[in-house]
Amino acid sequence: MHEGLKPLLNIQELDIKMIRLMRVKKQRQGELKQIESLRTELHEQLKLKEEEISDLNKQVNSLEEKIQGLTEKYKKLETQQSSVKKVEEFNALTQEMTTVEREKVALETQTSNILDKKVAEEEILEKIKESLSSTETNSQELEVEIKGSIDKINEEGQHLKQERDAIIGNADPETLKIYERLLRNKKDRVIVPIENRTCSGCHIALTLQHENLVRKGKAVVFCEHCSRIHYWQESEAEGAAEAPTRRRRRRTVKA
Ligand SMILES: [Zn+2]
Repeated sequence: MHEGLKPLLNIQELDIKMIRLMRVKKQRQGELKQIESLRTELHEQLKLKEEEISDLNKQVNSLEEKIQGLTEKYKKLETQQSSVKKVEEFNALTQEMTTVEREKVALETQTSNILDKKVAEEEILEKIKESLSSTETNSQELEVEIKGSIDKINEEGQHLKQERDAIIGNADPETLKIYERLLRNKKDRVIVPIENRTCSGCHIALTLQHENLVRKGKAVVFCEHCSRIHYWQESEAEGAAEAPTRRRRRRTVKA
């Protein structure tokens, strides 16, 4: 194996762990946001419903005032009627009273419809309140749990960073720079072994020449398909103890 790659393989393992850790963290942060937005949404619904009900109350009040006015008007007409002497005037007043009465009935029907609507809206309001209160209780527990796990993730991340800082000095700066750039692009292992003359990163077959170049380990060789850096696994002699572990680990990741 190219000498510069050995320390990078250890760094890579830490970086892969960190990438996974950050993925989990992002997921958990997303969950927190979801809880938050559910609560905000319920609060908005509650406010909207309360405004609707208050608007219905205003409508009812204004209708009741109008009904009151019509009742008074009717009474006045009644009094007026009791003192008229001409039949025509009496009949005219009767007609007017009928009109007032009809208007009043129409307004009463309208009021009763609005009151029915108000009852229905109030039921919905109650349901929103219940759901908000249960959401608040449940989400509090969940939030505590999620925040706790994010704290743990941060802690683990700190450890990984410390481990990385401790070994970073072993790596050749130039190769490290290339490695880090590749890692940023792929967010996956970028220094990979050749397995059965195939790139174990992109699984595309390689030429014998390419394999020989990697085997010699004199230069850093990139996969011409996926740009990953290749290394040769010294399976029989030198790397016998190390290689199978690495292979197994990689398989677990894919599954
Ligand atoms: Zn490849």
